[in-house]
This record gives sequence, structure tokens and C-alpha cells, in this order.
Amino acid sequence: MVWAMKTTCVESAPGLAPVATASEPLTVLATRAGCALEASIQRLVRASDQTLGHLEVQAAHDVQELLRQALQRGAQAKAAATPPVCPVCGHPLNRLSSGHARTFQSRYGSITVQRARGYCKRCHKWRTPADAALGLDDTAGYSPAVQDMAALLASKLPVAEASAVLEHLTGVQLPRATLDREAKRQGQRAQRLRTQLDQHAATEKRPLELTLEPYQMIIQLDAWNIRERDAWGQSAALRRRGREPERWHWVYTGTCFRLDRRGHTAGGRPVITERGFVATRQGIGGLREQLHAEALRRGLGQAAGALVIADGAVWIWRLADDRWPQARQRLDFYHAVQHLAAVGRALFGEHKEKLQAWLKPLIRQLKNESAIKVIRQLEEVLATLPDGPTAVTVAREVDYFRGHQERMDYRAARRAGEPIGSGPVEATCRQAQCRFKRPGQFWSQEGDEALLCLETFWRNHRWSLLFPHTSFDPARN
Ligand SMILES: [Zn+2]
Repeated sequence: MVWAMKTTCVESAPGLAPVATASEPLTVLATRAGCALEASIQRLVRASDQTLGHLEVQAAHDVQELLRQALQRGAQAKAAATPPVCPVCGHPLNRLSSGHARTFQSRYGSITVQRARGYCKRCHKWRTPADAALGLDDTAGYSPAVQDMAALLASKLPVAEASAVLEHLTGVQLPRATLDREAKRQGQRAQRLRTQLDQHAATEKRPLELTLEPYQMIIQLDAWNIRERDAWGQSAALRRRGREPERWHWVYTGTCFRLDRRGHTAGGRPVITERGFVATRQGIGGLREQLHAEALRRGLGQAAGALVIADGAVWIWRLADDRWPQARQRLDFYHAVQHLAAVGRALFGEHKEKLQAWLKPLIRQLKNESAIKVIRQLEEVLATLPDGPTAVTVAREVDYFRGHQERMDYRAARRAGEPIGSGPVEATCRQAQCRFKRPGQFWSQEGDEALLCLETFWRNHRWSLLFPHTSFDPARN
């Protein structure tokens, strides 16, 4: 057997290798690929300047045609076996005709498939059922694996880099404009799927899970802004009409997690093991519904209680009162400290030592004792101040603390092992901003929402709902 293989390889020596024809069985192509690999190994051994890396690149090249043809034949066979029924409504198609060619880019090169087409009387539309069966709907001409790669890379990197990285890692060439369009198309598909999932979460009757310990659902909200290119090129026209073109827009972000799904690092630092993530350009209303659905999916319905933690922004507490009226509310501890520091700076200016000496005991009291105690001290300070800018600042901060008094139960929180800060959502915002706020980048609302949506699918470990092939195990197929 070994000798037979060797004979075959000698026959197809380099330079004489025949061009593969469409009618050749895959086993013939496989043998040719095997011979090419043997020759590549020999060249690697002889070439003193080549490392294993050279063989890694060469081996992928040697088997590429085998893989491309396998995909093409698989696609053609699947297309031929697809029943002529409407993929949307299931109605049998009329006026069938075959031989409609479609060429698209796959993971291993360009592929052409002949498909049948027919008319659905119920939908009043022409349908190509094979496209749905192959996963080619909603794409300009890319296989599911290429759609997946374009979507993931464009949601992680600026599109020019995404295009270069894709080619470097996989050899798949997608010019940046094409990659951008394909990623947005996938992002819009993700948005439609998100809407469906959110509606399902809101209406689904969940079986009561047997929870051994009652748990709290923690919800955190924040916002950051993003620069967009809406009304681009119309600035002068807008200004003539007395309107300043808006470039910066809010991205609303939220996370939610069950407190009992929080573990600890080896060093004892708390880490959240399962966390839901939402980011949207669809305004406070969009955040409200998306975050509520996410919290439901994460077990809000069975939670013993819910707790909203955020900074002092008014919109957040309005949203919380409205959407989760039963939830407790907590002001992020670090924001509270910043407001104490603002009082300190008003009182002591650049006297850092005096400022620290005044601030430290107050912070300690706020954390370990009670907010009321701290507020009383601020009120006492205010009473001694003459009218002027310092008094104005201190009065404003006293109002701030009075307004949030009920949200500063840090002592009880710490005793209950609950978080006192909105660190997780802020870390999430920072990460997202790194991606979406690079210098010189401009976005449109539509494009932003599509990419943000892809990002949420990835972070929430729901990528495989968009690209089912990414979660299946070929070893068990
Ligand atoms: Zn139909």
C-alpha cells in the first residue's frame, strides 16, 4: 500500500501535475493533495531557511483545491436535494426552473452552484429554496463561514484592519468596503433575531426553576457617546437653517447578572461568571426593553429581588422606577466619593493634605456607617460658609447627597455581600469605547446599531444562534 502511494506520487511530479477537472472523484484529488504534501515536506527538509511555519502555510495551500471542490460538490448535492417548497411559508413552488447559477466566496475559494427557482403563490414571490438550505440568504455572495468571519472581525476591528487580518489569517480576500457591507448585513440580521428573542423572553412562560438559594438580580446601567456621520456633508446647509449638526450620540449600555453567579479569583477578587450585556443606539427606550429581556433570560423572573446600581444620572433612575419599580436602587459608591471630593476641593482648593485629612474619614463613614451621618456633616459645613461660590458648590452637593440618600446603603450592602459599585458596566463601556471611539472613525446610526448588536451576541455567548455552524462539534457529527 505504501509502495502504491509512492508510485502515484512519482507519476504526478511537480510541474507535471494535471489540472483538476470537475469530474474527478474526491479520492483522486485527495491523493494528489497527499502527493503535494509529501513533496512540500521534502522541500521543507532541504530548505535551511524554512521553519515549520512555512509548511503550515504550504500544507494549507496543498489541500485548498481538495477542500474547495468538496465544498462545491457538497453545496451542489445539497441544492439538488432541497425540496421545491417555499422556505418562508412551506407552500409548494410553481413554475419551477433549474440551472440558476450562483457564485459565492467560501472559506476555501470561489464556488458555483446551480439551483432551482420557483414561484410561491402564497408569498407572491420568486424563491430559491437551495439558498436558504445552504445558509446563503441575506448575503451578497458569501458562505456562512465567511459571513461569520466578516461579522466577527468587523465588530472587533476597524474595517480596513479587519480586511487585512482576515486575509492574513485565512487567505480569504474581502476588500474593506465589501467586508463592511457584509458585516452590516449580518448585524441587521442579528437585530431582527434580537427582536424575536426579546419578544420571546417577554412572553415566555418559564417553568419555575428549583433554586436552592434565593438570589438577587443585579442590573447596572451607563451611557457613553459616539461620533456619527449622520447628515454628513450637510453641515453648511443645516447651519444656514439655524441648526447645528449633531455628531455625538449616546450609546446606552447595561449589564445584568445573578449575584450567586459571582465567583472569586484566586486572589479573592469577586468576578462575575455569567453576565448579560446590552448596548444600543436606540435610545433609553431601546435600552429599557433590551435590558429587561436580557434580565429575564438571566432569571429576573425567579429572582428574590432586583438591585439597580448606577451613577447619579437622572434618566437611569427614571428608567429604573418605570421598568423595575420593585427593584432596590443603589448609587455607585465611587461616584458618591467623587461628589464628596468635589466638596473637599471647594473647601480646600489645592491643599491636598488638608483635603485628604477631611475626605478620608468621610469616605470611611459613608462606606462603613451611614449616609445620613455624612450628610449631617456636610450640612454643618454649609451652615458655616459665607455666601459665595464655595457655598453654592457645597449646597449643590448636599442636595445631591440628600437626593440619593436612600440609594447609599453601603453598610448593609457590604454585609449582604452585594456590590456597591457599578464597576462591571463601566468596564464594559470602556471596552466598547475602545472599539467604537478610535480617532478618525465616524459612524452612522444604522451601522453602529448593527455592529453593537453583533458585539452583544458575541459577549452574551449567543453567536451560534446567528451562525449555528460555530457551535457544532465536527468530531461528533
Ligand atoms: Zn411562501
